[in-house]
Amino acid sequence: MLITDKHKINEYYKALVDREQSFVGIFFVGVKTTSVFCIATCRARKPKQENVEFFSSFKDALDNGYRPCKICKPTENANETPEQIETAIQLVKDNPKQKIKDYQLREIGISPEVVRRWFKKNYGITYQTFQRMYRINSAFQELKNGKNTTNTAFDSGYESLSGFGYTFKKIMGNSPKNSEDKTVILISRHTTPIGPMFICATENGICLVEFVDRKMLETEFKDLQNKLNAVIVTGENDHIKLAKKELDEYFNGTRKEFTVKLVTPGTDFQNSVWTILQDIPYGKTVSYQTQAEKLNNAKAIRAVASANGHNRISIIIPCHRVIGKDGKMTGYGGGIERKKWLLEHEEKKSAPYQLKIY
Ligand SMILES: [Zn+2]
Repeated sequence: MLITDKHKINEYYKALVDREQSFVGIFFVGVKTTSVFCIATCRARKPKQENVEFFSSFKDALDNGYRPCKICKPTENANETPEQIETAIQLVKDNPKQKIKDYQLREIGISPEVVRRWFKKNYGITYQTFQRMYRINSAFQELKNGKNTTNTAFDSGYESLSGFGYTFKKIMGNSPKNSEDKTVILISRHTTPIGPMFICATENGICLVEFVDRKMLETEFKDLQNKLNAVIVTGENDHIKLAKKELDEYFNGTRKEFTVKLVTPGTDFQNSVWTILQDIPYGKTVSYQTQAEKLNNAKAIRAVASANGHNRISIIIPCHRVIGKDGKMTGYGGGIERKKWLLEHEEKKSAPYQLKIY
């Protein structure tokens, strides 16, 4: 959780400046200017108070786009960390752009099961999720740094394409084959009550809205870049601004439909499924079966489920409104808990006024 209590913030800031050992693990401090997070005892020069924010857990700091500080090593030092785990963490830091596979851990005598269990217990995330978040945060940071090296044309939302293409190519996949017909996908972060999201748009509309810790997010980035022959750069355009506004209204309960333009590269079948999804009214749910019947293809349940899973525009294309035939929550890219939250939120906001009759 982001700490918002003023009193606590002052107390934590003082502990940070004083390098209070007793506050290690109690808070994690994100330094906005460098996008790293630290523990209380960090030896680095202390940032100004207006440049920090405090989180109650390690995962919250990661979720909000921070990477572990190289000096105080919050991952290793916040709680007593076994040597095996330290090594596994170091492996991620030394190879930020690679996925560390189980066999690579085994090769150096580390048990992947032990690592998985330790992460889950101490940080509430898996080692795989930690790796993913570390990569995504590093990539996003590189994109932002690319921006700082050039002042040109940033106002229009475009920025140093060359610097970025290079770093991003390594992390996110191919860069455009032909620079002539290069498309630009802008990417921006947005905070919501159930976690930060990435919002992407081309000049034609929104092409991605996903929670930053979503599984397969990098695959979606790669797909988008390939399908649109595009590079991803940080920035905002009018579509992103409008999407943020509408999402805020949605989360406040004052918006039930979205008007922002969408860009959904995919197969014809996928697009027909995504179109049908947008017809499910706010606060209602349907089954995969019903969805397949609407497509006049009652047997295509699996294909429909798969197309739902490939939806890149969460919430706006409401794949969370599709549930199993028996009413069970089924898989959701952003996690089942978020799906439940969204459905309950919509149910609450769409409940008719109850007239009490005595
Ligand atoms: Zn530090």
